[in-house]
Amino acid sequence: MKPHQLILIVEDDEAISRLLQLSFKQLGHKTLLAKDRQNALREIQTRNPDIILLDLGLPDGDGKELIKTVRALLSIPIIVVSARSDEEEIIAALDAGADDYVTKPFSTNELLARVRSTQRRFMMHHSSDSLITCNDITIDVENFSALKGDQPLKLTPTEFNLLKYFVLHRNQVLTHGKILKEVWGIAYEYEMQYLRTYVNALRKKIETNTTSPLYIQTELGIGYRFICTTPN
Ligand code: CA
Repeated sequence: MKPHQLILIVEDDEAISRLLQLSFKQLGHKTLLAKDRQNALREIQTRNPDIILLDLGLPDGDGKELIKTVRALLSIPIIVVSARSDEEEIIAALDAGADDYVTKPFSTNELLARVRSTQRRFMMHHSSDSLITCNDITIDVENFSALKGDQPLKLTPTEFNLLKYFVLHRNQVLTHGKILKEVWGIAYEYEMQYLRTYVNALRKKIETNTTSPLYIQTELGIGYRFICTTPN
């Protein structure tokens, strides 16, 4: 994480917002605090924060509405930090456009790690470099080719697109619906069998052991998370 970032904390619980402010200040970042959606939106529009940490249960309504508003306007990473831990709520927040979801109570170290990985993904998404690596996998976005170690991966166009989507959204929980919409198109949002078939095919090509995959992890009932342990 780059130093001197501006973190917007949207949180109405004072104990939690104090903890978050303190943790980021110790790392040399600046923080802004908004206790409801209305103030959050004003801070976003006037102060241009680098990342947003968002509680969902806010005094003036559901934080998910704020995610949709921000997504329509700007490209800022948003991490939901919420006590709501049921699958439906997590899926709804991710589908609204959140980049990650951390449930309360959380460990500060884990939250900071999620912030770092979200920002790395964001930077990668906006970089013009056509080569992207993740552990021993390298993909060339412009030439539609991929390597595992020094061996070329023989991928169909859909497998390639799925792998590219995973690598660009590395270490992030991706819902089934979101992957289907982004890789196949909006009409395919509910075609879970497509996704399962392609994930299985891709695992056979990239995983050393498909019964305990290291790259494509299943997030039960929610979707998948593509694991990269190397920073890009
Ligand atoms: Ca709250």
